[in-house]
Amino acid sequence: MIRATKIVATIGPASSDPDILAKMIKAGVNVVRLNFSHGKAQDHIERASLVRQAAAACGREIAIMADLQGPKIRIGKFEHGKIFLESGSKFVLDADCELGNQATVGLDYKELPRDLKPADVLLLNDGLIVLVVDKIVGSAIHTTVRIGGELSNNKGINRLGGGLSAPALTAKDMEDIKTAMSFQADYIAVSFPKNATDMIMARQLANIAGEPTRHKPQMIAKIERAEAIPLLQEILDASDGIMVARGDLAVEVGNAAVPALQKRMIRMARASNKLAITATQMMESMIVNAVPTRAEVSDVANAVLDGTDAVMTSAETASGKYPVETVEAMAAICLEAEKSDVVKLDADFLNVTFTRIDQSIAYGALFTAYHLRVRAIVALTESGSTALWMSRHNIDIPIFALTPILGTQRKAALYRNVTPLELEHSSDREVVLKAAQDLLLAKGAVQKGDMIVVTWGEPMGQVGGTNALKIMKVGEH
Ligand code: PEP
Repeated sequence: MIRATKIVATIGPASSDPDILAKMIKAGVNVVRLNFSHGKAQDHIERASLVRQAAAACGREIAIMADLQGPKIRIGKFEHGKIFLESGSKFVLDADCELGNQATVGLDYKELPRDLKPADVLLLNDGLIVLVVDKIVGSAIHTTVRIGGELSNNKGINRLGGGLSAPALTAKDMEDIKTAMSFQADYIAVSFPKNATDMIMARQLANIAGEPTRHKPQMIAKIERAEAIPLLQEILDASDGIMVARGDLAVEVGNAAVPALQKRMIRMARASNKLAITATQMMESMIVNAVPTRAEVSDVANAVLDGTDAVMTSAETASGKYPVETVEAMAAICLEAEKSDVVKLDADFLNVTFTRIDQSIAYGALFTAYHLRVRAIVALTESGSTALWMSRHNIDIPIFALTPILGTQRKAALYRNVTPLELEHSSDREVVLKAAQDLLLAKGAVQKGDMIVVTWGEPMGQVGGTNALKIMKVGEH
């Protein structure tokens, strides 16, 4: 069975090994995420090369996503690495403090005192520690500890409700974009964008850095700031997709608001012909356990039913004990959840209007495939757009994106229900149609006599020209 929902796996020390990577890819990884919040440029360059080698050894195309650190605001370091904060005690965050102690700690974002006012609530270490601002005196933020606990070096800080002014792209992000373009990352995930302008700027920087190889990555907006929520549509319009970055988002908007937001974000992304990735703590307990909890199984399954393109792992595969088992478990949950996915294709097209010829063909192919119960939908595509449009609707028939373009194969690795495959270029329609059928037969995706729906553009080999649709029986071309 072909799994429709894709798996994005973060790699790190636990998975930067050719053998483990190959096992993870065989278990179902479609996209590898390199987290630029950790490690040096050279680590990411080496990991990207390992991924490309492991994918080649498995005969698969894997997309690489470079996830920028962004302006995550962090406390500084402590004299002894960590302290224990008692609830009710006083604690000072001081932009001028060099080395922290029991009473005070430094800040990496020196402007933070200017963004705050008394009674603001600060959440440290993903919300495990809660401070309430008493007063601001120069560079020092005086607080009372509402919820205490252990606090160690460089933990993150969020303000409940959001609204901190740090710009989305830091100097480090700009350097990291160049690093990511040196290995032609297929996706760039931008952390903490506030609005469409942040995404437009990031895309421009990535396109400039990719200019020498004419590489243009796909841009993913990580939705993790409270102020991004009301601007979601403009952010979607400026991006190729979004990540429901539940870690930081939950800290800014409150845990309880996240599940409903996840559903809304995925729905809006699909309606805008954009991608959606659901991230963070999906299989958290598998960092240390070989099997997920029932709640984690439900979480992954519910993201599938929400219509996410991909589910993502973080520490589970980057530094956990069971990276391969995590991917295996996720793949099994996705497959099972997809069986109960309700297809309402006719309802999807009620009141839908479209004017583009290529989009009309994409929707026509879906509609036809659904009613004729064909075995496969085959998009012969250069840019991948036809397959993307088709994949925005639930259908229990697999979509194959056949393309001669390597970059298209890799980016389509993230599209829900799309299996990208390489098909050699030819401007002869009959040659291409036969080669497409032979390829699907060789992959075991169809059998002789199966009905399929195929779309392509004539004359063949031009980007954006899908204008033809054929219903055919495999072997009778
Ligand atoms: C998140 O906050 O959910 C997230 C994916 O971001 P990161 O892991 O980069 O902090």
